[in-house]
Amino acid sequence: MAESRQRRKATEFVVLDLPPAPRTPGNGARIVSISNQKGGVAKTTTAINLSAHLAVNGMRVLLVDLDAQGNCATGLGIDKSNIEKGAHTCLLEPEQSSACIHATTLEKLHIIVSDQRLVDIEHRLHGMMGREKRLARALAPLRAQYDLILLDTPPSLGVATLNALTAAHGILIPVQTEFFSLEGLAILSRTIEEVRRRLNPILGVDAILLTMHAPTRLNAEVAEEIRSTLGAHVIEPPIRRNIRIAEAAAEGLPIHIHAPDSYGGEDYAKLGVNLTLRWGISRSR
Ligand code: ADP
Ligand code: MG
Repeated sequence: MAESRQRRKATEFVVLDLPPAPRTPGNGARIVSISNQKGGVAKTTTAINLSAHLAVNGMRVLLVDLDAQGNCATGLGIDKSNIEKGAHTCLLEPEQSSACIHATTLEKLHIIVSDQRLVDIEHRLHGMMGREKRLARALAPLRAQYDLILLDTPPSLGVATLNALTAAHGILIPVQTEFFSLEGLAILSRTIEEVRRRLNPILGVDAILLTMHAPTRLNAEVAEEIRSTLGAHVIEPPIRRNIRIAEAAAEGLPIHIHAPDSYGGEDYAKLGVNLTLRWGISRSR
C-alpha cells in the first residue's frame, strides 16, 4: 500500500518529454552516448558487451571510455597501465585524438581508454572557451573510420558527460527497473533540453534500455510503467539480471565469449540486432 502510494507520488511529478534522435548526419559513424547520471545501472556493462557484440558481427566500432574508473578497458581484458594517451588527452588536446585509439582482441573494436587522469578534468578545463565541445572536436575526424562510436559516461552530469552529450547524435539510456527510475530520467531529460538549447540542437534519445531486470512483480510493474510513459523509446528486450554478466566483466571478457548462451548473452545479442535496425546502420563496408 505505502509502496504504491509512494510510487504514484513519484511519477506524478515526472515530466518526460524526450526528443527522438535524428538520423545520422553526413557520412561516417553514428555517435551514441550511453548515459544516466545514476551509477550502477549497467552503462559500462552495456558499453562493453554491446560494442563487442556489434564488432564481432562486422560493425567497425570505437568505444570511448569517459569515466575515470576506466572499467571499459578492464572489462575487455586490456591492461591500460602502459597506455599514455586516453580520454583525458582527447579532452585536453582534441587534435591528438587519433593517437589515443588502441586495438582490442577483437579486430573491429577499437578503444580510447580512461583512467584516474580524468578525475581532475573538470578543474583542468575550467575557464576554457568551448570546454563542452572538445570531445566533439576530437571525434569529428575519426567518424570516417567507423560505423559506430559508443561513449561510456560517468555517473554524473559533469564536464565529461556534457562533452559526450555535445558530441553525440543519440543517447542510449540504461534504466534499472526499480522505484524512482523515472525520477532519475526526469533529471536527465532536463539536461538533454539544456544541451539541445546551448550546445547540440540535434541531440535526441536513441533508446531506453531496461537493465538488471528480474522476474519479480515489482520489476514487471516498473517496466510496464516505463513502457507506458516512454512508449517507443523503450528498446526490447530488457537485459535480465544474470550473474554471468558480472562474471564476464571480472574475467575481462565480453559476455558473447564468456557465456553466449546465458540470459545475458542472449539479451545483449538481441539488443545488438534491434539497435542496429533502429539506427539503420549497415554492417561493415
Ligand atoms: P554503471 O556503469 O552504470 O555504473 P555497471 O555497468 O558498472 O554500471 O554495472 C554495475 C554492476 O552491476 C557491475 O558489477 C556489473 O557487473 C553488474 N551488472 C550489470 N548488468 C548486470 C546484469 N544484467 N546482471 C547482473 N549484474 C549486472
Ligand atoms: Mg560505469
